[in-house]
Amino acid sequence: MSADDTPQDREPPMRYDAPSCAYCPATVRACRQGTSATRGPGFCPSQVDALTLGEARPLYDAPETRQFAQTAAIIEGEGYGKWTRVEEIVAFAKRMGYRKLGIANCIMFVDFSRTLTGILESHGFEVASVACKAGNVAKEEIGVTDAQKVVPGGFEPMCNPIAQAELLDAHGSEFNIMLGLCVGHDSLFFRASKAPATVLVVKDRVLGHNPLAALMLADTYYARLWGPEKSRKSARLPRKSTRR
Ligand code: SF4
Repeated sequence: MSADDTPQDREPPMRYDAPSCAYCPATVRACRQGTSATRGPGFCPSQVDALTLGEARPLYDAPETRQFAQTAAIIEGEGYGKWTRVEEIVAFAKRMGYRKLGIANCIMFVDFSRTLTGILESHGFEVASVACKAGNVAKEEIGVTDAQKVVPGGFEPMCNPIAQAELLDAHGSEFNIMLGLCVGHDSLFFRASKAPATVLVVKDRVLGHNPLAALMLADTYYARLWGPEKSRKSARLPRKSTRR
């Protein structure tokens, strides 16, 4: 133990509020071997909340969910390390028997949406696509002030993810593909989409739509990501429970 150790480092918590797989050491990760119930750390879901874990399991027995989960697992195995995500989407949609697909794209991704549409159509799918600005609804209608716009002083349409979901549903999409919607707008889209939805691209305007780069460089070029409570050493354990 060094003089630099924080109290958190020196006193492993005895109890945890929440599952904290993020702290699972590479040498453990026992769920991969099916042994988390016996080898999982104290913050493992199998230790913290075995009840909820157990309740989730039978939910896969519903026929539709089972087919979905099974197909996803089979695609994962068949394409592992070989197929791009686009190829995985095509294979998954074919295997699920979908005929009509929907694309919910950012207005900045219209050209990519067209390429994707062409690829999907070349595999025999029908495709509907809706851009985020469809509907021409002014941001003022949801309480955004002029000063809060990207470019104040003129008309600026709000992103309209609920309309994207409703339109794709109304036009028979059986499986939706999200292409570059903003943080929060994507959440609304997922909540409103009646068809199951997957993500092809997440938006990161700064990192070429590769937000993982921020995490890869979090201790160097993107150190600004950290908040004021960053500890001097990277934590090895979750924070202690505050429950009594
Ligand atoms: S489920 Fe348990 S064993 Fe698996 S990563 Fe999480 S903490 Fe580790």
